Formats: sequence, C-alpha cells, structure tokens
Amino acid sequence: MHVAVPRESAAGERRVAAVPEVLGRLTAAGIDVTIETQAGAGALHPDDAYTALGATVAPDWSSLFEGADVVCKVQAPSVEEAGRLPEGCALVCLLQPAADLELVRVLTERRIGAFSLDLLPRISRAQAMDALSSQATVTGYRGALIAAERLPRFFPMFMTAAGTVPPAKVLVLGAGVAGLQAIATARRLGAVVRAYDVRPASRDEVKSLGAAFVELELETQEGQGGYAGEQSEEFLARQRELIGKEVAAADAVITTAAIPGRRAPLLVTAEMVHAMRAGSVIVDLAAETGGNCELSEAGRDVVVNGVTIYGASNLASSMPIHASFLYARNIAELLGLFVHDGAFTPDFDDEIIAGTCVTFAGEVRNEATRRLLDDAEPAQQPEPAQQPEEAKP
Ligand code: NAD
Repeated sequence: MHVAVPRESAAGERRVAAVPEVLGRLTAAGIDVTIETQAGAGALHPDDAYTALGATVAPDWSSLFEGADVVCKVQAPSVEEAGRLPEGCALVCLLQPAADLELVRVLTERRIGAFSLDLLPRISRAQAMDALSSQATVTGYRGALIAAERLPRFFPMFMTAAGTVPPAKVLVLGAGVAGLQAIATARRLGAVVRAYDVRPASRDEVKSLGAAFVELELETQEGQGGYAGEQSEEFLARQRELIGKEVAAADAVITTAAIPGRRAPLLVTAEMVHAMRAGSVIVDLAAETGGNCELSEAGRDVVVNGVTIYGASNLASSMPIHASFLYARNIAELLGLFVHDGAFTPDFDDEIIAGTCVTFAGEVRNEATRRLLDDAEPAQQPEPAQQPEEAKP
C-alpha cells in the first residue's frame, strides 16, 4: 500500500500527517510513504529525516500522487485541491464533512474514499486512533499556559519575605478531554481550580485531578458516545444564571464546552464579563465553533473592561511537534486497519472503517452528511415555474 503525505496548505497550519518516528511502524505494516518536500518543515522535521528512514520525497503534487492508494492529511483539502487528488484514491484527514458540503460533492464525483478521523466511533478498540482526543489534549494544555501567560498575576501561591501571594483562581467550564488537560496543567502551575461539566461522569474525573467540582442545581445532560447531549436555550439560560458568580470570582476562566456538530453553547455573556475584575482572563477554546463567551473572536485577544478574552484558533498547531507525533500515531493505527497483505483493502464490516467513511466509490456513505446534502439540494434547484393563476389554492 502506498501512502502520500502532502504539505498542509491551510494558513498557519504547522502539523503534518506523518512524522519520522512513525515510519518504522508503517513500513512494518507493508506501507510505503512518499511525502511532499517540506511537508514536515512546520513540525521541524526536514526532508532528510524522512529519507533516512526509507520514505521518498516528492517535489510536487503530480509526482507525490504517483501510485498513491491513500493520501493522508491533517486538515481537509480545499475544493480546488480535492479536484487534483488522484481519482479513486483514499483520503484520511480531519475532514469535518458538515463544514464543507461542496468538498463532499467533489470527493464523491472523483470517487475518492474519504475517511474522516472526526467521525471515529468512541469505542475502546479505536482509542489509539482518536485524533480528536489527541489534539484536544494539546489544546487543553496550551489553553492553560495561555491563561497563565495572559494573567497579570502568578498562578502559584508564593510566600516571600515581601509578603504572601495567593494562588490564582481558575474556573474550567467543560471537562472533556481538553478541559481535563487544562485542569491538570493549571494545577501543575499551582492554581486553585474549580470546574463544571454537564456530563455526570466528569465529576469524579475533575476531582481526581485535585480540582473542585462546581455543583449547580441543574439536571445532567448525557448524549451519545460519551459526548454531551444538545441543551435547550432554557437550560443554558439557567446555567448562565447559576455560573455567574463563579465566573466573577475567577482570575482565569478556560472554556471548552462543545456539542458535536453544533454551535458551542454560550456560557459567558458580555454582562458576565463586565462583572469580572480588571486583569482577569478568559481563554475560549471553543471560539472557532461560535465561542462559549459572547465576546470572543477566534484567533485574537479582545480586551473589555480590563478583561482579556482570548479566542483560540487551531491551538494544536502551535505545538506542532507533539501534535503531529500524536496525530501521525493515530493515522498509523487507522491505516493498519486498511492494509491486508500489503494492499489497500478496507473491510466495511469493521465499525471503525464504516463509521469514519464519508464517501466511497462515488457514494456518500455517512448518513448525517447525506441528509445535509439532501437538505441543501433543493436550494440549488432552479425556482419552480409559476403555477397558472387558476391552479393556485
Ligand atoms: P467535546 O469536545 O465534544 O466537549 C467538551 C466538553 O464540553 C464535554 O465534556 C461536554 O460534556 C462539555 N459540555 C457541553 N456542553 C456543556 C455545557 N453547557 N456546560 C458545561 N460543559 C459542557 O467532548 P470531548 O472532550 O471530545 O469528549 C467528552 C468525553 O467523551 C470525554 O471526557 C470522555 O469521557 C469521552 N471520551 C471517550 C472516548 C472513548 O471511549 N474512546 C474517547 C474520548 C473521549
């Protein structure tokens, strides 16, 4: 099986889908790798680090894809790039099909077998392939560091000859993979941490990291596959009312709340920001999916009333060495399922392969994506011809 790894083209993306450390694993599974020249540069892996371990380096896309069975990327290709992928090949990446239906159409037309790591079923056998979790780990860690760096006071307590400095109070909203990592990192830096999540399982996880769980008089919200369920606007309004004083008391608030496939829930309003002390910090890790804070803007700092609101944008890419290492390991595990006797032979009876598949052999295989395409279809049809006057009801 032959795998091609292009250089990521999205602005600011430094990760790469294959790193030298995983090449041995791929070769042992009967997989040859070709990388586009400089594909690893953002993650500080020069071309010769790949060639030294048996990979081939291609100068451009046309030679990169010669004989390629599978193209591995971090982010989804653009529509234009998808049009240049070899017809009939497979593509593995964080595709997020709902975000770009035009891309799904092009992949279908070109009979590309697209497999999206963000659709991976959350079952124990798939844990080593769970790229959402590996990248969320990086994001949560970085989020806590950014909060500490933006805060104009210490995270840890200090007892010095000049006086005692109390530890920072950090509030983490959403205690999934990123939230738990943010809690652990803020605790390592010496902050006093409180956290809240709507899922009942999170209470013990929060406590096991030495943080206090914020008890709110709200029913828990458990969805499918370990994720939170979608919450009503009434629930969220009540949550904001109850969490207000926790937010006002915190020096730093790190928000990570998300519902798969939906806009991030609004947890911190402008009014709540105005009630915070000047110098406080909000790090909104959900800024790219609408934001947990009403005032956050992805990719920049907004300062309101002395409160800095940092809207995160692709934080995983800001730690490209380890983010790429973990992602490349996730990909290598998934590729292991595709290859039999050195050939690309996906078995659709395997729930991991069936679950991650978006398009294959000219068909949209993912049901949710198919529904979105069907819903979008009528909008593209020409307006129906005017009915004759007498036929109108
Ligand atoms: P996510 O990124 O979709 O959401 C982040 C967190 O936000 C979740 O914990 C969610 O409960 C929380 N949230 C949603 N709405 C909220 C609200 N209104 N207020 C507060 N919090 C809110 O989720 P994730 O971090 O990818 O995963 C969530 C959980 O799934 C993990 O903690 C873990 O228990 C489970 N998981 C299981 C597996 C597996 O079994 N293979 C793998 C990874 C994660």
